[in-house]
Amino acid sequence: MGEGDRAIDFAIDHVIAEKHGGETAEHNLCLSCYWCNSYKGSDLSSVDWTAGGQIVPLFNPRQQIWSEHFRLDGAHIQPLTATGRVTVYLLRLNAEERLDERELLLALGDYPCSLATG
Ligand SMILES: [Zn+2]
Repeated sequence: MGEGDRAIDFAIDHVIAEKHGGETAEHNLCLSCYWCNSYKGSDLSSVDWTAGGQIVPLFNPRQQIWSEHFRLDGAHIQPLTATGRVTVYLLRLNAEERLDERELLLALGDYPCSLATG
């Protein structure tokens, strides 16, 4: 599939938001779907309540490898690490409407896509 005929649209988003000093440069930009972009906002971390309430950085798609932090189980994204857990939680990656969308993309053979993960 070309970039113009994707089932969902992506926006270019700052990994580290400008308000935290993040640069508008390739190393700090990623493609993000509407929901990930909305739920992440300018956050950099969240609280891992399963591990005593530690503050843990969110997954950084520019510096980290997706498969080291997550595993796809059907349409569910299962976290493998603390960073995976806080990212799944904050971005609501397994919310019902997101699972519905991911199931549709899987059925279309459009997930995971080569442009973005998440
Ligand atoms: Zn997304």
